[in-house]
Amino acid sequence: MSKEIPIKIYLDESSLPKAWYNLRADMKNKPAPLLDPKTGKVADFEMLRQVFCDELARQEINETDRFIEIPQEVRDFYRMYRPSPLVHAVFLEKALGTPAKIFYKFEGNNTSGSHKLNSAIAQIYYAKKQGLKGVTTETGAGQWGSAVAMACAFFHLDAHVYMVKCSYEQKPFRREVMRTYGAEVTPSPSQTTEAGRRILAEHPGTGGSLGCAISEAVETALKTPDTRYVLGSVLSQVLLHQTIIGLETQAALEKYEIKPDIIIGCAGGGSNLGGLIAPFAGEMLQGKADYRLIAVEPASCPSLTRGKFAYDYCDTGKICPLQKMYTLGAGFIPSPNHSGGLRYHGMSSILSQLYHDKLMEAVAVGQKEVFDAAVLFARTEGTLPAPESSHAICQAIREALRCKETGEAKTIVFGLTGTGYFDMAAYHKYNDGEMTDFVPTDADLEKSFADLPVIP
Ligand SMILES: *Cc1c(COP(=O)(O)O)cnc(C)c1O
Repeated sequence: MSKEIPIKIYLDESSLPKAWYNLRADMKNKPAPLLDPKTGKVADFEMLRQVFCDELARQEINETDRFIEIPQEVRDFYRMYRPSPLVHAVFLEKALGTPAKIFYKFEGNNTSGSHKLNSAIAQIYYAKKQGLKGVTTETGAGQWGSAVAMACAFFHLDAHVYMVKCSYEQKPFRREVMRTYGAEVTPSPSQTTEAGRRILAEHPGTGGSLGCAISEAVETALKTPDTRYVLGSVLSQVLLHQTIIGLETQAALEKYEIKPDIIIGCAGGGSNLGGLIAPFAGEMLQGKADYRLIAVEPASCPSLTRGKFAYDYCDTGKICPLQKMYTLGAGFIPSPNHSGGLRYHGMSSILSQLYHDKLMEAVAVGQKEVFDAAVLFARTEGTLPAPESSHAICQAIREALRCKETGEAKTIVFGLTGTGYFDMAAYHKYNDGEMTDFVPTDADLEKSFADLPVIP
């Protein structure tokens, strides 16, 4: 590290990446293909374009092009909030008394409050270019729905968001953000779809789940002319768009000749982590460098650390393509926890393959330790982090404290995916000492594994 490192490393607009990086091009073991849930056959372009925009269906199955150009209109939008800063966490280092160097890539610098806007704006751009009228989607805690609403407002498309009912009721402010940007928001399960009516008949009074909201959004997209479905995580197209995070991080580190040892991200469906680590995993696959890449998931929804590597449904209604991934089973409903964005039962097929091939590690952490980390971070670094992001903070602190014991000055980089201003009910629980850890038992998991589809 020759040059003096500033606390905030900003790249100028001209160094905004011109292309996303498609890690699959460099993977020797490619992720398994998506399958049609009805026939069990490989889901090809023709099948995928019924649900997704044409260009996104192409990106979903593209395993060969290493770089995919970012359209000029998308780059122009990115310019409003990118390149995002890479911050040297000097005050956190000091509080921990660690010889480690800690950096975080901050994605909370836009109104949606998270990295999700990076993919939303790309997906909505392609929908617009195809001449569609609108899109449908689901949202859990509301970050993805907010990002889609913002992107649709920018490109003048209709957005219909199915919001998991318990969040719809508990997070009225996120709902109003979406409505302010012009989106229609329906609590899920609802009476407006067959999938919703079926689930309501079976489980009256349910607070809903992501898997259920996905089914409703897909069904509505299929039934509405000139409308497609968009998804905020898990899919390979989403990881592709999120590589803007990793590419900028790589450029910022190179600018100051910083070589990371450990790269950490929280993992819900895997999009921010996949985007952050992609260029670094690419260097590993090409034999150019070696890093420890770590996925951090909640102990209440431990798909990588306790799930099965198998084909599974992506949604409760079983209408989306089947994906081979680490999964807890599509019927798994995680016990309530405060990281809505990390409550998905499965994991990106790209990350699942990297983990299976031992290129990436995974840990599960309890939410009390996560909020201890969140509060220390808020008090030292100023930014009040999202509960999801705080999983990455938690593991970064663990690694930094390990360095303190061994005296090693490792360089740790983690993704700070968003801010927690809409999560104050969770902080309220923590501040009142009422936060609890929910961990599923092996018997709970066996029950949902029993419903994994049998692939001939
Ligand atoms: C959605 C979300 C996540 C998790 O999603 P991934 O696809 O796993 O990245 C993490 N942090 C925040 C702030 C989110 O909104």
